[in-house]
Amino acid sequence: MNSTEMKDISTMKQKPYRLVGWDTKLEKTVVKVGDVEIGGDELTIIAGPCAVESHEQVMTIAAGVSQLGIKLFRGGAYKPRTSPYSFQGLGLNGLKMLAEVRDVFGLRIVTEAVSIETIDLVEEYADVIQIGARNMHNFDLLRRAGQARKPVLLKRGMCATLEEFIFAAEYILIEGNSDVILCERGIRTFNDHTRNTLDLAVVPAVRDISHLPIIVDPSHAAGDYKKVIPLACASVGAGTDGIIVEVHHQPEKALSDGPQALSFAMLSRMIDQVNQIASIVRQDVVTLAT
Ligand code: PEP
Ligand code: MN
Repeated sequence: MNSTEMKDISTMKQKPYRLVGWDTKLEKTVVKVGDVEIGGDELTIIAGPCAVESHEQVMTIAAGVSQLGIKLFRGGAYKPRTSPYSFQGLGLNGLKMLAEVRDVFGLRIVTEAVSIETIDLVEEYADVIQIGARNMHNFDLLRRAGQARKPVLLKRGMCATLEEFIFAAEYILIEGNSDVILCERGIRTFNDHTRNTLDLAVVPAVRDISHLPIIVDPSHAAGDYKKVIPLACASVGAGTDGIIVEVHHQPEKALSDGPQALSFAMLSRMIDQVNQIASIVRQDVVTLAT
């Protein structure tokens, strides 16, 4: 082995994550979406339904969350469902409804791209491109998201280690897109009292090795609306930069993930509680990370 090869190997050892790690950047990344700064001083809240189901549904929920002061709206137009017989999303029509939500309420849109075939449309219509847990290992899709001119919300795969999660983000940064928001959404364990086990320790663990913002999705971890607010509060205590949460005006009629959807009243309670906790811990999170 010559000295250049040896140097390559030792550099790799020191900096396994070349772009996502602290070695290449001294300050925490702040991702700007409209006038919202994810990873900045304020805790960010993203809320909306699991899926865009109809014009009436999406406009009603957008009105409700917007009244509560939320600025970022979530909702899937393309849904990666376990069963091929389940509702798969409204596709392009759904994206057009989300664009209307932005026009009418000024909400910025977070929506999922499930494939290389659909990411062009998602990039055109969304403000933030979500890559879901099931696609965290889809390296072609990650590279394509890295070529996008919109921020990417990257969810942790349900069986991914921290290292695999961070390397997935590296795939996006390496293509030139450094606006990446990581998202913990629960992992598979032997526990069966929640849909997934929320791994809150990953929040400070990410801070240790990466400058990227990390948010938490308590909805897909809980799988049950009753557990969402406690998990959201705990996430803020653990230092998350934000919460992404599912909301529905008629959860019993939702076409996907109804059991974990918060009502507007519950969302309002969640916002009050997480903001109180943020006022205690947030400054520390921001100072210690930089
Ligand atoms: C979602 O956000 O609706 C979703 C499908 O999430 P995940 O990829 O985390 O399962
Ligand atoms: Mn969902």
